[in-house]
Amino acid sequence: MKETKEFKTETKRLLDMMINSIYTHKEIFLRELISNASDAIDKRHYLALTNNEYSDSEYKILIEADKENRTLKITDNGIGMTKEELEEHLGTIAKSGSKEFMESVQKENTPEVDIIGQFGVGFYSAFMVAKRVDVLTKSIKDNKAYLFSSEGLDSYTIDESQKDNYGTVITLYLRDDTDDIKYSDYLDEYTIKDLVRKYSDYVRYPIQTWVTKYDPKDDKDDKDSEPKTHLELETINSMLPIWKKNKSEVTEEELNNFYKSKFMDYQDPITSIHINVECMLTYNALLFIPKKPLYDFYTDRNERGLQLYTKGVFILDKCKELIPEYLRFVKGLVDSADLPLNISREMLQEDRAIKKIATNVEKKILAELARMLKNDRNKYEEFFKDYGVNLKYGLYEDYGAKKEQLKDLIILNSYNQNKKITFSEYKEAMPEGQKVIYYASGKDKEAVDKLPQMDLIKSKGYDVLILTDDIDEFMIQVLKDYDSLEFKSINQGDLNLIDEEESKKIDELKEQKKDLLQSVKEALPGVKDVILSKRLVDAPCCLSTEGGLSFEMERVLKNQNHADIKADRVLELNPNHQIFKKLEDCYNNDKESLNRMAKILYTQALLMEGILPDDPQQYSKDICELLLK
Ligand code: ADP
Repeated sequence: MKETKEFKTETKRLLDMMINSIYTHKEIFLRELISNASDAIDKRHYLALTNNEYSDSEYKILIEADKENRTLKITDNGIGMTKEELEEHLGTIAKSGSKEFMESVQKENTPEVDIIGQFGVGFYSAFMVAKRVDVLTKSIKDNKAYLFSSEGLDSYTIDESQKDNYGTVITLYLRDDTDDIKYSDYLDEYTIKDLVRKYSDYVRYPIQTWVTKYDPKDDKDDKDSEPKTHLELETINSMLPIWKKNKSEVTEEELNNFYKSKFMDYQDPITSIHINVECMLTYNALLFIPKKPLYDFYTDRNERGLQLYTKGVFILDKCKELIPEYLRFVKGLVDSADLPLNISREMLQEDRAIKKIATNVEKKILAELARMLKNDRNKYEEFFKDYGVNLKYGLYEDYGAKKEQLKDLIILNSYNQNKKITFSEYKEAMPEGQKVIYYASGKDKEAVDKLPQMDLIKSKGYDVLILTDDIDEFMIQVLKDYDSLEFKSINQGDLNLIDEEESKKIDELKEQKKDLLQSVKEALPGVKDVILSKRLVDAPCCLSTEGGLSFEMERVLKNQNHADIKADRVLELNPNHQIFKKLEDCYNNDKESLNRMAKILYTQALLMEGILPDDPQQYSKDICELLLK
């Protein structure tokens, strides 16, 4: 006997939203129905393990389109539903996805249409495309068939019915096409194939549909006539994803091909990482580092994230919770058996399984990079050219929270070795007596070589790391030291490069020349201090900085619109240089010349650091006057 029943209030609201939604990803309805079908087969399959009566020789999901009647049928030979289950599961909102969806809509003032796609909205999503849905089902529990039917409004009907075998047939009566939406597209075999491949390729039961095949032409056929066709039932999903295969069973070529087709790259990746984990947490992952950053890497469109699957069902394209920002160049996917299909974006952030997987994924990537650095140096250097800066940012971020994991993956140009080296290689090559790691910022070795601050260091044979990226000095500052060796910029603070006796001599001289140094300082308002240098050999003067901020950092900050943040400048004079004697002369005889000389020396020191003077005209005037003297 046919019964008509009212939907519960919250179900009505959900249905109303589905029907009226202008949500553009209506296509997810197919994913949801296939996923329900696959779950139902799982359940039957499981029962059949202990009771042979329940088993079926071939589990599958069938999709049939009927263009004439505008229906789409999804058939499974799963567990089916009893009458009570029909009422409980389809008449009210089920425990999982739909319920959370509703709660979220009620809680937040998010526009309804925005969040539909973030949830597994299950069975009800069918109403986004159908004006009527019939569910014909026969459960292995009671052997009776029922037909549930609803137009998605206030009520549904349930009636006893006839069905030969166990399982469920869902028939969607598609809505009429509008100017904007062609619902009839869902009847097209190519659309169906595309959607299955996109969302359900790795469902582990065959998903079949009728596919047009062309008959071979025979001699009797007219050459120009339309080719004859027939329909064949074809499995359109690939079922076993390569990430679920055992690592040892997958070749590098297979991985490379998979990567290229999935992430639309024409080159093999630099490296692939295949993870199979089966213990407290079960998941498989495939990760790839593209040979070159993909075309949109530097654009706003490039969101980080790995694809997320649960139990072979595609959930999300860019799950950013799975990968830290500094590894955003990594492409790949994670498939876990421990996540619900209807996991929402909000839930992802809190989900403990996701957090654990993410930590593990990060660890594996870093281990692979360490392996590459050790065993395949050229490849690593190629990698570092494109992505090294990301690792440096990773080290810098969060006040160096990741520095222990990342410090040994950084390579920087070495002045002595003419190649990129790690901090540990720097340390190994240090001559006896060297106590710190020296570094200098500059565009290349030639630029650094010309700095007067290099003279003494070179004479000692000490190596200097050449920093070229904007982030480098900031990274070094966060790192503080490496293996108890401090970092020291060649133009910051005391380098301790001269012996004690000489150092003492300079200190004494400084005391004697106090007034001269003070006068020079007074001539230079932009300068924090004027001192006698302990780092110069041939040059008359140089600039150094005091405190944490260097010239390089000043330059980087200026490019980020912080022109007001300046490093504290210290003018260092070489007491052994002729020019120093000249300064003394001027100090004793001609104060005006002293001022001019101080300004010229300071500007020259600025120029050597690559910093333009604030007043180039004045500099030019000062030089001319000097020439005329
Ligand atoms: P969810 O799948 O997230 O629980 P749905 O609204 O998609 O929510 O489905 C509600 C319930 O209806 C399912 O949990 C399942 O018990 C039942 N169901 C849906 N489709 C089928 C099917 N094809 N075969 C058997 N049971 C089904």
